[in-house]
This record gives sequence, C-alpha cells and structure tokens, in this order.
Amino acid sequence: MVSSFSRSSSRSASPEPSDTMQIFIQPISGTIFPLTVPSNLSISHLMTLLSVRTALPENALRLVYAGKHLATPASSLADYSIGNEATVMMALPMRGGMPPKKIRCTFKECREGAQRIIGDCGFCQGHYCGKHRLLEDHKCDGLEDCKKESHDRNAAQLNSERTQVIKGI
Ligand SMILES: [Zn+2]
Ligand SMILES: [Zn+2]
Repeated sequence: MVSSFSRSSSRSASPEPSDTMQIFIQPISGTIFPLTVPSNLSISHLMTLLSVRTALPENALRLVYAGKHLATPASSLADYSIGNEATVMMALPMRGGMPPKKIRCTFKECREGAQRIIGDCGFCQGHYCGKHRLLEDHKCDGLEDCKKESHDRNAAQLNSERTQVIKGI
C-alpha cells in the first residue's frame, strides 16, 4: 500500500519563501493593487512580475518610489528602502502621444461610440455602434454587392445540391 503521507511530506523539501511582504502598486491611471513578494526581490524581478500582471512590455514600465525612479534592475527592494505595505508608483512612458481615441459611429448624426471589431463593417469599411452595426441598420453601401454575392452563393449551393441528388439516383 502506497502511503499518501510520505508523498505529501516530500513536498516540504522545496524551499518556502521565508520572508515575504506585501507591497502596493499604484498605476498612474488605474486601480492600486497589492502584490506579495519576497522582501529581497530585485527590481528587475519586480518588473517581470508587473509585466506579467499588466501584460505590458517590461521595458515600458517605470517604477517610482518616494520620488525616486527605481532605475537599477540589480538593486533589491530593500536597497530602495521599500518595505512592507510600501506603495510603488507605476508609470508608463507616453509613446506616440495619447491613448487611442474612442471612434465614433460612422452613421450620419449618430454620436455613439463605435464598437470595437464587431462594429466594423467589412463591406463599407465603416465603424458602427451597437444600433447601427448591421448592414441594414446603417444602409450599407456594400449591401447591394453583399446581397448579390450571397444570392450567387445560394445559387451555387443549390446547383451543387441538385447535382448531388442527380448523382445519388
Ligand atoms: Zn450609431
Ligand atoms: Zn457597411
């Protein structure tokens, strides 16, 4: 009989992070969030953690604590006197200016914001809100072509089905 006890006890062989602390990350535009880290964590590791967490490239992040830019990746949090419950500011250098502007619905006087991806019309290249994203709703220029195309497609489908039926006899 295999003892499950011995198996679980072997897990404790891996070293436990003995000295962890909680710090807070305050993005310049965004919600503050806590992060539990080893207290001897290096700045470069912190950058990696934050890059994973925020899905932003590591080299785009800029960390500031107590007015100081955490510019030395090899330094540890302690070197910057970042202790338990410290709040580190996280800034993103502005590259290419402002964040993307909200696109407005292409339809006439409509002031709604266009929906991303699903609001894009592949026939007239417009960007539409939820109300106007369907071809009929924005009186799509490409609609006639579209109808014709689907008509052709139906006809082709019909023909191939007919052929199959004939073959099946
Ligand atoms: Zn609209
Ligand atoms: Zn359209």
